[in-house]
Amino acid sequence: MSGSMSRRQAIEAVTTYEMETDGFPEPLADTFGRNVFTLSVMKSRLPKHVFKAVSATIDKGAPLDPTLADYVASAMKDWAIEKGASHYAHVFYPLTGFTAEKHDSFLEPDGSDGSLAEFQGKTLLQGEPDASSFPNGGLRGTFEARGYTGWDVTSPAYILENPNGNTLCIPTIFISWTGEALDKKTPLLRSQQAMSKQAMRLLKLFGHKDVDTVVSYAGAEQEYFLIDRHFYFARPDLMTTNRTLFGAKPSKGQEFDDHYFGSIPDRVLAYMIELDRELFKQGIPAKTRHNEVAPGQFELAPVFEKSNLAHDHQQLMMTTMKKVAERYGMVCLIHEKPFAGVNGSGKHVNFSLGNSNQGNLLNPGDTPHENEQFLVFCAAIIRGVHKYGGLLRSSVATASNDHRLGANEAPPAIISIFLGEQLADVFDQIAKGGAKESKQSGVLELGVDTLPPLKADAGDRNRTSPFAFTGNRFEFRAPGSNQSISDPMVAINAMLADSLDYACTFLETETAAGTEFDAAVQKLLEAIVTDHGKVVFNGDGYSDAWQEEAAARGLLNLRTTVDAMAQLDEPEIKELLSKYGILSERELKARKEVVLEQYALALLVEAKETLEIAKTMILPAATRYMGELASTAASLKAAGIDMETPALLAMTTSVKVLNKNMDALEEAIAGFHGDTVEAESEYALTSLIPAMAEVRNAADKLETIVADDLWPLPTYNEMLTIL
Ligand code: ADP
Ligand code: MG
Repeated sequence: MSGSMSRRQAIEAVTTYEMETDGFPEPLADTFGRNVFTLSVMKSRLPKHVFKAVSATIDKGAPLDPTLADYVASAMKDWAIEKGASHYAHVFYPLTGFTAEKHDSFLEPDGSDGSLAEFQGKTLLQGEPDASSFPNGGLRGTFEARGYTGWDVTSPAYILENPNGNTLCIPTIFISWTGEALDKKTPLLRSQQAMSKQAMRLLKLFGHKDVDTVVSYAGAEQEYFLIDRHFYFARPDLMTTNRTLFGAKPSKGQEFDDHYFGSIPDRVLAYMIELDRELFKQGIPAKTRHNEVAPGQFELAPVFEKSNLAHDHQQLMMTTMKKVAERYGMVCLIHEKPFAGVNGSGKHVNFSLGNSNQGNLLNPGDTPHENEQFLVFCAAIIRGVHKYGGLLRSSVATASNDHRLGANEAPPAIISIFLGEQLADVFDQIAKGGAKESKQSGVLELGVDTLPPLKADAGDRNRTSPFAFTGNRFEFRAPGSNQSISDPMVAINAMLADSLDYACTFLETETAAGTEFDAAVQKLLEAIVTDHGKVVFNGDGYSDAWQEEAAARGLLNLRTTVDAMAQLDEPEIKELLSKYGILSERELKARKEVVLEQYALALLVEAKETLEIAKTMILPAATRYMGELASTAASLKAAGIDMETPALLAMTTSVKVLNKNMDALEEAIAGFHGDTVEAESEYALTSLIPAMAEVRNAADKLETIVADDLWPLPTYNEMLTIL
């Protein structure tokens, strides 16, 4: 459709749009989990011993006996067929960060004349989707091309609805035949297990008897834009790259803050209501919805869940957001920076850890004993963020997220941690006073009544920090809106595994040497604050002063994906991930390759699209307008009227600049090469990005002087404010 829809047609179509909806007769609450093969569905359909085994796996991470899979498969199939499913699909999460599914029919010929529904345990447990075209960073040579999906028992199967028939979806992991992870899910599960082991060890040191598997929880706040689909189809840049490669800044932007938390337009609200309904059916606990900072920008936040489930739900949520938008004649843009100069979209990942016995381990509580335990978990995070800041930064590295980080709307690329006033003060005292002094003053001896109880809201919010404590959880604000939450959660779980391991070993060694447990904790906290306290920063992360101070503190400031991904070559990071069985060196290297390859490709596509639009849309509009100006000038002259022609002069100058910049971009594209992905991405960063920016500058200048009726692309104002 691209090219066929002119800007004027688009505006016409948008302004005459009429929403069609019959409303929903059924209360929202009744739909929750309707399409999910939940524990209670299983309970009613599985033999008791099978149900017990499956729920132990889901709740406590116990291994599942594969011979039970036949029972589950059969119950799942019956349930799905009753729900109108004819097919099943193993759903997996390849390294692109998207969601992939391969559908198979339940029906298989029975060998005589009929056909019958078949779905066996082995089909549930394992699939072989081939799927060899997904990027794998060299893990799958043609000689070892097999890839398998494997059932993830901990993430429930669900029904995907379509007016023409439903599909049973089974969340899976995706691995090569050598057992190497080809997806985003496998390392998440591995990292969860590694973290849990160390967290349980620590809880036992604190004297807890009943210690269950500790899980990490994630709640991801999703920002997005909505624009009318007619504008989308009139913007080939949005269609191919999901962001606008051109567009002059509107005279009225977001500076009035009149959109932020403002009343939601009816059409958008109708969309949000239907979206919530769809998400509810899939058991996704959508909770918060509101306008965001930029015009046309919104946010959706579900209630947090165990991070592996939150991951799968988050992926399904993004797909559903896009699908439902179509029903309302809109396009949902999840790109990190669809509009330059306008607030971008992030996905803040809130996380905590805990289990059913000990509760949320990041809850400060108000009894000293709990404080002590809380402070150790908190210190473990401080240590992790300091020691593995490079890994955290690399976990949010993409071409599109580079537009956000450090652009005064998202946290800077420097990874620091915000504790809030009260907590920062507690750690300050630990660092300054040390165990000795605290004994004297009696203030800081952990485990005694005088330790100040911490309230749930122990500090203010800080929007400028990438990693902020928010009362009973941390919020990692750097992830991009379009990203899978897997990489950030893997990094968090991994650094926690290492820090908790360190803490346990420290405490075990000290107590074995005769130190009292409380004193050993005091010593541990002091050691961590002394070695890693530099990463704590409670000031304004947007300020220039912070850039300088962070450098002085020796904190990394990795502005681009290219810089960030180089961190994965650091021995400490390789060691961390392989030591805890999260990613082998080969797997890690493959991931780095894929990210850099995607980075370079994304930029190459953007560069080509920039050139094409400049050539086929912008330059023609500009020359037409020049022609008009020139012929007007000629007619006036012929009529003996002597008038100056500043517009014509301005046009010729700007068009010359555009032409020159287009030539340079064409050359840069032609020169795209690299023997390695590192070289390719470096080239994209240093040659393609600046060349594209120059073409855009010249074109955006023209947008402000070419006659409006000749301008081919819907403007920022139109796209962002007409809904
Ligand atoms: P904000 O005020 O930061 O915009 P939101 O309400 O938009 O907050 O989102 C907060 C997110 O944090 C939600 O997804 C919420 O479920 C999640 N969250 C709350 N408590 C926890 C917790 N203990 N662990 C993980 N995530 C949590
Ligand atoms: Mg929010």
